[in-house]
Amino acid sequence: MAVHLSEKLEATYQKILKRNPGETEFHQAVREVLESLGPVLVKYPEFTDRKIIERICEPERQIIFRVPWQDDRGEDHINRGFRVQFNSALGPYKGGLRFHPSVYLGIVKFLGFEQIFKNALTGMPIGGGKGGSDFDPKGKSDNEVMRFCQSFMTELWRYVGEYTDVPAGDIGVGGREIGYMFGQFKRLTSKYEAGVLTGKGLDYGGSLVRTEATGYGATFFVDEMLKVRKDSFEGKKCVVSGSGNVAIYTVEKIHQLGGRVVAVSDSDGYVVDEKGIDVALLKQLKEVERRRIKDYADARKHAHYVHGGNIWEVPCQVAMPSATQNEINGKDATTLVKNGCIAVGEGANMPTTPEGIKVFLDAKISYGPGKAANAGGVATSALEMQQNATRDSWTFEYTEKRLGEIMRNIHRTCFEAAEEFGAPGNYVVGANTAGFIKVAKAMVAHGLI
Ligand code: GLU
Repeated sequence: MAVHLSEKLEATYQKILKRNPGETEFHQAVREVLESLGPVLVKYPEFTDRKIIERICEPERQIIFRVPWQDDRGEDHINRGFRVQFNSALGPYKGGLRFHPSVYLGIVKFLGFEQIFKNALTGMPIGGGKGGSDFDPKGKSDNEVMRFCQSFMTELWRYVGEYTDVPAGDIGVGGREIGYMFGQFKRLTSKYEAGVLTGKGLDYGGSLVRTEATGYGATFFVDEMLKVRKDSFEGKKCVVSGSGNVAIYTVEKIHQLGGRVVAVSDSDGYVVDEKGIDVALLKQLKEVERRRIKDYADARKHAHYVHGGNIWEVPCQVAMPSATQNEINGKDATTLVKNGCIAVGEGANMPTTPEGIKVFLDAKISYGPGKAANAGGVATSALEMQQNATRDSWTFEYTEKRLGEIMRNIHRTCFEAAEEFGAPGNYVVGANTAGFIKVAKAMVAHGLI
């Protein structure tokens, strides 16, 4: 089922499996990139000579630490914190922090590895990294979240900085958490170093459009893929999984572009609203009240909630998985294609399994992998860093325009790389080859480090 690797690449991959036992998501992310690289290594033999693959798959630094904190009842808790500084060939390590009970080293490494190539594709001067904790923010009070964030930063502050490593949000980490971590960093260092974190609040160095950026950017990317098919969002029925930051602003932008999102979800179930998901209600429920998606159907009587179930059974022409990794398997992908789906744009990181990707590619639908399609979030983080460096703040219109240009550019880069490396229309090959080549060239230039 998996794409065949050359003997040499297969041997390299087997070594990586052995060196990183049990880290299945990391293995999956590495395998997907290696499967695209055959023709690249023929064109650039120096990448093999300089052992770029072996080096790129080994993080520059991995930090694992204890995070002790106390809940509101006075009980002590111990969580584990991570920061994997994967690659700094193109700039300071850059990537989010994920707070979710599923977080372990394998998840942080898959995310950090993907981040290297995603960040390269943005064209911005940022390296790749990722971090997080197995802390579960669900059901925690504001004060508990604050104490956890303070404790997390009490260890992390030594390793981050405007020129070294710049964390941001991911699942479970949004504006509130970034605020608490920024406050603690400032307190510990006695420095107002705005560029140490991105996704900050607008009152203290944040950028307009950062909140919207991942969802807007993913939608722009799909819009570009549709244009290649001489099509558009106009009148398209869409399904967006998830209901967090990425999903909300994906729904908003799809509606602005004339599409209609009929379903969103959370980890308990999904809601179907044939009239089109009401974004204002979604924001109120998720961003303000931090409620579950079930409550959407209570507030909109014509909508219905399905507990458990599978959101990919809801027929649509465009699917934008924006929840989490491996949420679309081979069977789900087959269902989507059978129901007439023509485009998939990944707002989440690695939401489609290798089997699912194969179904999409074989069916020749437009499939935009996460490391290209969801790069708008981190790209706008880099725009936030630019504003911080110049102590400036840009308008919403200007920042969104920059985001749009970056996404069109990423799309073109992937499209052209796919053609060059013999896989026209295959954005997986396009994203992996273009992202890899940029980082590999910088690594060769820097010598053996
Ligand atoms: N967590 C986001 C991602 O997966 C954003 C990272 C950032 O802004 O640094 O790309």
